[in-house]
Amino acid sequence: MLITPQALEIHRVVVSKTYAPGELDFRGAEFRQLKPLQVGAVAELVGGEIRIRGHFDTVLGIICDRCLGPVEMPIERDFDLFYRPVASIARDEEIEVPEDEMEVGFYSGEGVELSDVITEQVILAVPMKVVCGPDCRGLCPTCGANRNSEPCGCPPAEPDSPFAALK
Ligand SMILES: [Zn+2]
Ligand SMILES: [Zn+2]
Repeated sequence: MLITPQALEIHRVVVSKTYAPGELDFRGAEFRQLKPLQVGAVAELVGGEIRIRGHFDTVLGIICDRCLGPVEMPIERDFDLFYRPVASIARDEEIEVPEDEMEVGFYSGEGVELSDVITEQVILAVPMKVVCGPDCRGLCPTCGANRNSEPCGCPPAEPDSPFAALK
């Protein structure tokens, strides 16, 4: 769905949209969309910029950082974003973004593609580190077994280490 300034000049656009898993292209991201993604948003023209604000939620399938097991993670995010046409940047002009206006993006062509906006927001909503649970015991550093499911019998490395007491 392309949001153009021409359309917004007439009236603001209220978006209520669902993206099925696979519809949004997360490129090389290390997660999958498991459930339909719901977006509710309003787009309007503010001082020549396209402002898009709204909310989305979905469920992602992510890999646990410790045990590499699958994690089902509900995510949601509010966003309030401004987009200017790329043509508005003079070539030598330094782009100064005021503190209170950090979330300014640029668009080339006719307007802003909503699916690009949502794709980016989903990627931003994913935490850097994901674990399947606070008690995840991870993989055994010696044999690689998943210590959540099978005691592998390797001697526990850390507690026996002479440096353990220093931690
Ligand atoms: Zn885990
Ligand atoms: Zn082991």
